[in-house]
Amino acid sequence: MSDKTSAEKILENIFTIMQKLYSEMKINTDEQNGHLHVFELFAELGKTLADADRASFWRWDKRNHKLLTTAATGTSSQIVIDDTSGLVGRAISENRMIVTNDPYNHPDFNAEVDKQTGYVTKSVLVLPVANFRGEIIGAFQVINKLGDAGFDADNDAKRLSIAAFICGMALESDIFLADSQHDKLTELKNRLGLQNDFQTRYEKILRDGTPLAMIMCDIDFFKHVNDSFGHNAGDAVLKHVAEILSSALRENDGAYRWGGEEFILILDDMTVDDAEKVAERIRQTIMDSVCNFEDKKIRMTMSFGVSEISAALSIEDNVKIADDRLYRAKETGRNKVIAD
Ligand code: GH3
Ligand code: MG
Ligand code: MG
Repeated sequence: MSDKTSAEKILENIFTIMQKLYSEMKINTDEQNGHLHVFELFAELGKTLADADRASFWRWDKRNHKLLTTAATGTSSQIVIDDTSGLVGRAISENRMIVTNDPYNHPDFNAEVDKQTGYVTKSVLVLPVANFRGEIIGAFQVINKLGDAGFDADNDAKRLSIAAFICGMALESDIFLADSQHDKLTELKNRLGLQNDFQTRYEKILRDGTPLAMIMCDIDFFKHVNDSFGHNAGDAVLKHVAEILSSALRENDGAYRWGGEEFILILDDMTVDDAEKVAERIRQTIMDSVCNFEDKKIRMTMSFGVSEISAALSIEDNVKIADDRLYRAKETGRNKVIAD
Protein backbone atom coordinates (compact mmCIF):
# COMPACT_ATOMS: atom_id res chain seq x y z
CA MET A 1 0.00 0.00 0.00
CA SER A 2 2.72 2.45 0.98
CA ASP A 3 4.63 1.38 -2.15
CA LYS A 4 1.73 2.33 -4.34
CA THR A 5 1.51 5.72 -2.66
CA SER A 6 5.16 6.41 -3.39
CA ALA A 7 4.73 5.28 -7.01
CA GLU A 8 1.74 7.57 -7.34
CA LYS A 9 3.75 10.43 -5.93
CA ILE A 10 6.50 9.82 -8.47
CA LEU A 11 3.98 9.78 -11.30
CA GLU A 12 2.47 13.00 -10.09
CA ASN A 13 5.90 14.64 -9.95
CA ILE A 14 6.71 13.41 -13.45
CA PHE A 15 3.47 14.86 -14.74
CA THR A 16 4.18 18.23 -13.08
CA ILE A 17 7.66 18.34 -14.59
CA MET A 18 6.32 17.45 -18.05
CA GLN A 19 3.72 20.22 -17.82
CA LYS A 20 6.45 22.68 -16.81
CA LEU A 21 8.58 21.43 -19.66
CA TYR A 22 5.93 22.11 -22.29
CA SER A 23 5.11 25.56 -20.93
CA GLU A 24 8.83 26.42 -20.69
CA MET A 25 9.34 25.34 -24.28
CA LYS A 26 6.56 27.69 -25.34
CA ILE A 27 7.99 30.58 -23.35
CA ASN A 28 11.52 30.01 -24.58
CA THR A 29 10.91 29.61 -28.29
CA ASP A 30 11.97 33.19 -29.02
CA GLU A 31 14.81 33.52 -26.56
CA GLN A 32 18.42 32.77 -27.23
CA ASN A 33 19.70 29.72 -25.35
CA GLY A 34 16.26 29.29 -23.83
CA HIS A 35 16.37 25.62 -24.73
CA LEU A 36 19.13 25.09 -22.17
CA HIS A 37 16.57 25.49 -19.45
CA VAL A 38 14.95 22.24 -20.49
CA PHE A 39 18.02 20.40 -19.22
CA GLU A 40 17.30 21.69 -15.73
CA LEU A 41 13.85 20.18 -16.00
CA PHE A 42 15.34 16.91 -17.27
CA ALA A 43 17.64 16.88 -14.23
CA GLU A 44 14.55 17.41 -12.11
CA LEU A 45 12.91 14.50 -13.91
CA GLY A 46 15.88 12.22 -13.18
CA LYS A 47 15.85 13.25 -9.54
CA THR A 48 12.16 12.41 -9.29
CA LEU A 49 12.41 9.12 -11.15
CA ALA A 50 15.31 7.86 -9.03
CA ASP A 51 13.81 9.33 -5.86
CA ALA A 52 17.04 11.19 -5.14
CA ASP A 53 18.00 14.38 -3.32
CA ARG A 54 20.11 15.78 -6.18
CA ALA A 55 20.64 15.17 -9.87
CA SER A 56 23.00 16.49 -12.52
CA PHE A 57 23.51 15.96 -16.22
CA TRP A 58 27.10 16.11 -17.50
CA ARG A 59 28.23 16.82 -21.04
CA TRP A 60 31.50 15.29 -22.17
CA ASP A 61 33.72 17.69 -24.12
CA LYS A 62 36.00 15.09 -25.69
CA ARG A 63 38.17 17.61 -27.52
CA ASN A 64 39.14 19.47 -24.34
CA HIS A 65 38.97 16.42 -22.03
CA LYS A 66 36.43 18.07 -19.76
CA LEU A 67 33.12 17.22 -18.14
CA LEU A 68 30.65 20.09 -17.77
CA THR A 69 27.32 20.20 -15.95
CA THR A 70 24.60 21.04 -18.45
CA ALA A 71 22.17 21.12 -15.56
CA ALA A 72 22.29 20.37 -11.85
CA THR A 73 19.52 20.65 -9.31
CA GLY A 74 20.30 22.99 -6.43
CA THR A 75 22.85 25.12 -8.31
CA SER A 76 22.80 27.46 -11.28
CA SER A 77 26.56 27.69 -11.76
CA GLN A 78 28.31 25.33 -14.13
CA ILE A 79 30.84 22.85 -12.78
CA VAL A 80 33.77 21.87 -15.02
CA ILE A 81 36.12 18.99 -14.19
CA ASP A 82 38.72 16.87 -15.99
CA ASP A 83 37.16 13.91 -17.76
CA THR A 84 39.37 11.46 -15.86
CA SER A 85 38.21 12.61 -12.44
CA GLY A 86 35.48 11.47 -10.10
CA LEU A 87 32.78 8.86 -10.41
CA VAL A 88 31.39 10.53 -13.54
CA GLY A 89 34.82 10.37 -15.22
CA ARG A 90 35.15 6.68 -14.34
CA ALA A 91 31.63 5.85 -15.60
CA ILE A 92 32.29 7.65 -18.88
CA SER A 93 35.78 6.30 -19.55
CA GLU A 94 34.71 2.72 -18.90
CA ASN A 95 31.21 3.12 -20.31
CA ARG A 96 29.53 1.50 -17.36
CA MET A 97 27.07 2.41 -14.65
CA ILE A 98 28.55 3.08 -11.20
CA VAL A 99 26.55 2.67 -8.01
CA THR A 100 27.97 3.24 -4.58
CA ASN A 101 26.21 3.45 -1.23
CA ASP A 102 29.49 4.11 0.53
CA PRO A 103 31.05 6.91 -1.56
CA TYR A 104 33.65 8.08 0.96
CA ASN A 105 35.30 4.68 0.65
CA HIS A 106 35.06 4.55 -3.14
CA PRO A 107 38.46 5.18 -4.83
CA ASP A 108 36.94 7.42 -7.51
CA PHE A 109 34.77 9.61 -5.29
CA ASN A 110 35.94 13.21 -5.00
CA ALA A 111 35.01 14.45 -1.51
CA GLU A 112 36.27 17.99 -2.22
CA VAL A 113 32.83 19.48 -2.97
CA ASP A 114 31.39 18.02 0.24
CA LYS A 115 34.31 19.41 2.24
CA GLN A 116 33.65 22.87 0.80
CA THR A 117 29.87 22.86 1.08
CA GLY A 118 29.20 20.68 4.11
CA TYR A 119 26.93 18.41 2.08
CA VAL A 120 27.12 14.73 3.05
CA THR A 121 27.01 12.33 0.10
CA LYS A 122 25.65 8.94 1.14
CA SER A 123 24.83 7.30 -2.15
CA VAL A 124 25.59 7.92 -5.84
CA LEU A 125 24.40 6.43 -9.12
CA VAL A 126 26.04 7.45 -12.42
CA LEU A 127 24.65 6.35 -15.77
CA PRO A 128 26.57 7.01 -19.01
CA VAL A 129 24.48 8.64 -21.75
CA ALA A 130 24.86 7.77 -25.44
CA ASN A 131 23.72 9.45 -28.67
CA PHE A 132 21.87 7.89 -31.63
CA ARG A 133 25.04 6.14 -32.75
CA GLY A 134 25.77 4.65 -29.36
CA GLU A 135 28.71 6.99 -28.65
CA ILE A 136 28.99 8.23 -25.07
CA ILE A 137 28.27 11.97 -24.91
CA GLY A 138 27.71 12.50 -21.20
CA ALA A 139 26.41 11.05 -17.95
CA PHE A 140 23.50 11.38 -15.59
CA GLN A 141 24.28 11.43 -11.89
CA VAL A 142 21.89 11.18 -8.95
CA ILE A 143 22.95 11.66 -5.34
CA ASN A 144 21.44 10.50 -2.05
CA LYS A 145 18.52 8.15 -2.46
CA LEU A 146 15.71 9.49 -0.29
CA GLY A 147 14.99 7.44 2.82
CA ASP A 148 18.62 6.38 3.31
CA ALA A 149 18.12 2.98 1.66
CA GLY A 150 20.80 3.63 -0.96
CA PHE A 151 20.45 3.21 -4.73
CA ASP A 152 19.42 -0.10 -6.20
CA ALA A 153 21.63 -0.92 -9.19
CA ASP A 154 18.77 -2.56 -11.03
CA ASN A 155 15.60 -0.65 -10.20
CA ASP A 156 16.96 2.87 -9.95
CA ALA A 157 19.08 2.49 -13.06
CA LYS A 158 16.01 1.42 -15.03
CA ARG A 159 14.06 4.43 -13.78
CA LEU A 160 16.90 6.84 -14.42
CA SER A 161 17.45 5.49 -17.92
CA ILE A 162 14.28 7.31 -19.05
CA ALA A 163 15.61 10.74 -18.04
CA ALA A 164 19.10 9.86 -19.29
CA PHE A 165 17.71 8.89 -22.71
CA ILE A 166 15.70 12.11 -23.06
CA CYS A 167 18.74 14.16 -21.98
CA GLY A 168 20.93 12.37 -24.51
CA MET A 169 18.52 13.14 -27.36
CA ALA A 170 18.10 16.76 -26.25
CA LEU A 171 21.85 17.26 -25.96
CA GLU A 172 22.39 15.69 -29.36
CA SER A 173 19.86 18.00 -31.02
CA ASP A 174 21.41 20.95 -29.18
CA ILE A 175 24.82 20.03 -30.61
CA PHE A 176 23.31 19.61 -34.10
CA LEU A 177 21.61 22.99 -33.82
CA ALA A 178 24.85 24.74 -32.82
CA ASP A 179 26.76 22.93 -35.60
CA SER A 180 24.20 23.91 -38.22
CA GLN A 181 24.68 27.58 -37.34
CA HIS A 182 28.49 27.52 -37.50
CA ASP A 183 30.98 27.45 -40.32
CA LYS A 184 33.53 24.67 -39.84
CA LEU A 185 36.39 26.46 -41.60
CA THR A 186 36.39 29.87 -39.90
CA GLU A 187 34.43 28.83 -36.79
CA LEU A 188 32.29 31.94 -37.25
CA LYS A 189 28.53 31.65 -37.29
CA ASN A 190 27.09 31.13 -40.77
CA ARG A 191 24.10 32.53 -42.65
CA LEU A 192 21.64 30.41 -40.69
CA GLY A 193 23.30 31.66 -37.50
CA LEU A 194 22.71 35.28 -38.52
CA GLN A 195 19.10 34.59 -39.50
CA ASN A 196 18.56 32.97 -36.11
CA ASP A 197 20.35 35.73 -34.15
CA PHE A 198 18.38 38.36 -36.04
CA GLN A 199 15.10 36.85 -34.85
CA THR A 200 16.21 35.96 -31.33
CA ARG A 201 18.46 38.89 -30.41
CA TYR A 202 18.78 41.74 -32.83
CA GLU A 203 15.10 42.41 -33.50
CA LYS A 204 14.59 42.80 -29.75
CA ILE A 205 17.52 45.22 -29.42
CA LEU A 206 16.07 47.29 -32.28
CA ARG A 207 12.63 47.30 -30.70
CA ASP A 208 14.21 48.73 -27.55
CA GLY A 209 15.40 51.66 -29.66
CA THR A 210 19.12 50.79 -29.73
CA PRO A 211 20.77 51.37 -33.13
CA LEU A 212 22.50 48.42 -34.78
CA ALA A 213 24.95 48.74 -37.63
CA MET A 214 25.84 46.21 -40.31
CA ILE A 215 29.18 45.91 -42.03
CA MET A 216 29.29 43.65 -45.05
CA CYS A 217 32.72 42.91 -46.45
CA ASP A 218 34.24 40.81 -49.19
CA ILE A 219 37.84 39.87 -49.96
CA ASP A 220 39.12 41.58 -53.12
CA PHE A 221 40.24 39.39 -56.01
CA PHE A 222 40.03 36.31 -53.82
CA LYS A 223 39.88 34.10 -56.87
CA HIS A 224 43.48 35.16 -57.56
CA VAL A 225 44.55 33.73 -54.18
CA ASN A 226 43.08 30.34 -55.07
CA ASP A 227 44.45 30.48 -58.60
CA SER A 228 47.97 31.55 -57.61
CA PHE A 229 48.52 29.71 -54.32
CA GLY A 230 45.94 26.92 -54.34
CA HIS A 231 42.68 26.25 -52.54
CA ASN A 232 44.33 25.45 -49.18
CA ALA A 233 46.01 28.85 -49.22
CA GLY A 234 42.59 30.38 -49.94
CA ASP A 235 41.23 28.57 -46.89
CA ALA A 236 44.08 29.91 -44.75
CA VAL A 237 43.30 33.47 -45.90
CA LEU A 238 39.63 32.99 -44.99
CA LYS A 239 40.65 31.89 -41.47
CA HIS A 240 43.10 34.78 -41.20
CA VAL A 241 40.42 37.32 -42.16
CA ALA A 242 37.88 35.73 -39.80
CA GLU A 243 40.33 36.12 -36.89
CA ILE A 244 40.89 39.80 -37.63
CA LEU A 245 37.15 40.42 -37.91
CA SER A 246 36.46 38.57 -34.63
CA SER A 247 39.11 40.51 -32.78
CA ALA A 248 37.46 43.78 -33.83
CA LEU A 249 34.23 42.87 -32.03
CA ARG A 250 32.93 43.85 -28.62
CA GLU A 251 30.96 41.47 -26.41
CA ASN A 252 27.49 42.00 -27.90
CA ASP A 253 28.60 42.28 -31.53
CA GLY A 254 28.45 39.38 -33.99
CA ALA A 255 30.61 38.15 -36.89
CA TYR A 256 29.22 35.84 -39.57
CA ARG A 257 30.43 34.12 -42.72
CA TRP A 258 27.61 35.04 -45.06
CA GLY A 259 28.97 33.14 -48.06
CA GLY A 260 32.27 32.14 -49.73
CA GLU A 261 34.54 35.13 -48.98
CA GLU A 262 31.80 37.46 -47.74
CA PHE A 263 31.40 38.35 -44.09
CA ILE A 264 28.88 40.34 -42.06
CA LEU A 265 29.47 42.13 -38.78
CA ILE A 266 26.62 43.33 -36.58
CA LEU A 267 27.63 46.14 -34.23
CA ASP A 268 25.55 46.73 -31.15
CA ASP A 269 24.55 50.26 -30.13
CA MET A 270 26.31 51.87 -33.05
CA THR A 271 25.31 54.48 -35.61
CA VAL A 272 26.27 54.14 -39.24
CA ASP A 273 28.84 56.97 -38.86
CA ASP A 274 30.67 55.16 -36.06
CA ALA A 275 30.42 51.84 -37.91
CA GLU A 276 32.04 53.49 -40.91
CA LYS A 277 35.04 54.35 -38.70
CA VAL A 278 35.18 50.75 -37.41
CA ALA A 279 35.08 49.43 -40.98
CA GLU A 280 37.85 51.83 -41.96
CA ARG A 281 40.05 50.57 -39.11
CA ILE A 282 39.41 46.95 -40.09
CA ARG A 283 40.19 47.74 -43.72
CA GLN A 284 43.58 49.16 -42.67
CA THR A 285 44.32 46.20 -40.39
CA ILE A 286 43.53 43.72 -43.18
CA MET A 287 45.60 45.65 -45.69
CA ASP A 288 48.59 45.76 -43.30
CA SER A 289 48.33 42.10 -42.34
CA VAL A 290 50.10 39.10 -43.82
CA CYS A 291 48.75 35.56 -43.93
CA ASN A 292 51.57 33.05 -43.60
CA PHE A 293 50.77 29.87 -45.46
CA GLU A 294 53.52 27.27 -45.71
CA ASP A 295 56.46 29.33 -46.99
CA LYS A 296 54.28 31.98 -48.62
CA LYS A 297 53.34 35.40 -47.36
CA ILE A 298 49.92 36.31 -48.71
CA ARG A 299 48.56 39.85 -48.63
CA MET A 300 44.97 40.85 -49.19
CA THR A 301 42.52 43.75 -49.16
CA MET A 302 38.77 43.92 -48.56
CA SER A 303 35.86 46.12 -49.63
CA PHE A 304 33.13 47.22 -47.22
CA GLY A 305 29.48 48.29 -47.30
CA VAL A 306 28.08 49.81 -44.09
CA SER A 307 24.43 50.42 -43.18
CA GLU A 308 22.12 50.97 -40.26
CA ILE A 309 19.83 48.01 -39.64
CA SER A 310 16.12 48.80 -39.93
CA ALA A 311 13.63 46.99 -37.72
CA ALA A 312 11.05 47.43 -40.47
CA LEU A 313 13.00 45.26 -42.91
CA SER A 314 13.75 41.54 -43.04
CA ILE A 315 17.31 40.39 -42.56
CA GLU A 316 17.58 39.75 -46.32
CA ASP A 317 16.44 43.30 -47.17
CA ASN A 318 18.83 44.74 -44.60
CA VAL A 319 21.67 42.74 -46.11
CA LYS A 320 20.70 44.00 -49.56
CA ILE A 321 21.31 47.62 -48.52
CA ALA A 322 24.80 46.84 -47.19
CA ASP A 323 25.45 44.63 -50.22
CA ASP A 324 24.58 47.43 -52.66
CA ARG A 325 27.13 49.68 -50.92
CA LEU A 326 29.71 46.90 -50.97
CA TYR A 327 29.05 46.49 -54.69
CA ARG A 328 29.70 50.20 -55.24
CA ALA A 329 32.96 49.88 -53.27
CA LYS A 330 33.97 47.11 -55.67
CA GLU A 331 32.89 49.06 -58.75
CA THR A 332 34.78 52.18 -57.72
CA GLY A 333 38.18 50.61 -57.07
CA ARG A 334 37.92 48.10 -54.14
CA ASN A 335 39.84 48.27 -50.82
CA LYS A 336 37.43 50.96 -49.57
CA VAL A 337 34.43 51.61 -47.33
CA ILE A 338 31.09 52.97 -48.54
CA ALA A 339 28.48 53.92 -45.95
CA ASP A 340 25.76 55.84 -47.83
P1 GH3 B 1 35.97 40.55 -56.15
O1 GH3 B 1 37.10 41.45 -55.82
O2 GH3 B 1 35.07 41.13 -57.18
O3 GH3 B 1 35.22 40.14 -54.93
O4 GH3 B 1 36.61 39.26 -56.82
P2 GH3 B 1 36.76 37.83 -56.21
O5 GH3 B 1 37.75 37.06 -57.02
O6 GH3 B 1 37.06 37.94 -54.75
O7 GH3 B 1 35.30 37.29 -56.32
P3 GH3 B 1 34.69 36.05 -57.08
O8 GH3 B 1 33.26 36.01 -56.62
O9 GH3 B 1 34.96 36.11 -58.54
O10 GH3 B 1 35.44 34.78 -56.51
C1 GH3 B 1 35.25 34.32 -55.22
C2 GH3 B 1 36.00 33.03 -55.10
O11 GH3 B 1 35.96 32.52 -53.73
C3 GH3 B 1 35.45 31.92 -55.94
C4 GH3 B 1 35.41 30.72 -55.04
O12 GH3 B 1 36.05 29.60 -55.61
C5 GH3 B 1 36.17 31.14 -53.81
N1 GH3 B 1 35.71 30.50 -52.60
C6 GH3 B 1 34.47 30.48 -52.07
N2 GH3 B 1 34.45 29.76 -50.93
C7 GH3 B 1 35.71 29.30 -50.71
C8 GH3 B 1 36.32 28.48 -49.70
O13 GH3 B 1 35.68 28.05 -48.73
N3 GH3 B 1 37.65 28.23 -49.82
C9 GH3 B 1 38.39 28.72 -50.86
N4 GH3 B 1 39.67 28.43 -50.90
N5 GH3 B 1 37.83 29.46 -51.85
C10 GH3 B 1 36.52 29.76 -51.78
MG1 MG C 1 35.63 38.81 -53.46
MG1 MG D 1 32.12 37.57 -53.19
